[in-house]
Amino acid sequence: MILSRIPDELTLGGAAIVAASAAAATLTYAALSAGSQIFGHTIIAGTDPNEVALTYDDGPNDAATDELLDILARHNTRATFFMIGKFVRQRPEIARRVHAAGHLVGNHTETHPWLSWQSARVIREELRACNEALEDAIGAPVHYFRPPHGARRPMVFRAAAELGLKLVQWNAMGYDWKPIGPERILANIEKARRRAQRRRVGTNILLHDGYDRSMGANRSDTLKATEQLLQRFAREGVQVVGIDVWS
Ligand SMILES: [Zn+2]
Repeated sequence: MILSRIPDELTLGGAAIVAASAAAATLTYAALSAGSQIFGHTIIAGTDPNEVALTYDDGPNDAATDELLDILARHNTRATFFMIGKFVRQRPEIARRVHAAGHLVGNHTETHPWLSWQSARVIREELRACNEALEDAIGAPVHYFRPPHGARRPMVFRAAAELGLKLVQWNAMGYDWKPIGPERILANIEKARRRAQRRRVGTNILLHDGYDRSMGANRSDTLKATEQLLQRFAREGVQVVGIDVWS
């Protein structure tokens, strides 16, 4: 009896350990996967597969953000910009121009840390400080928040909710932080757009007009890709929307 009980206990213990590590892996994946809804509601895309949102992160950024505004204006297109507070403090006039042009401006934290590993106090402060910088710059309330790297956990949702911010992720990445050139950026987005269309949802495109480490990063590939995307969308009758139509 003793002999038969020991292996049972070992098996049970082993199973429990396997289950616990699987749960931990699931939680880690959920915290890092852009599409996960496990910790709370996140805006990704609407149910019209013909709709596309353009979102730009990590600005405001000298030259690139203003050039992007020109491209968007030429195509009469509204986009969403998730800005880093420390850069908004350096270039409030760029944030103001983005808002004045009718684009949505959202919170992307003050210093762009991985929120998965921060204390509740730091998370609250990162969101609060960025909101303050944005609202001082644009003179309007901010309603949307994208966590850096898409990293979430319950405290991130709580801190966002305390400030009345809705979380926004994406389902199409240009991978434009890599030096891959505009054609590859476009191909990445098109692949993700086809996947979203098969799933009967819109496409929420993540691109970067800025760079979280420094002001003045060259984003000419992103700008070229944007120009080509907008030409293609116009030809194909794709509807470009702000993410606020999906919230
Ligand atoms: Zn970012």
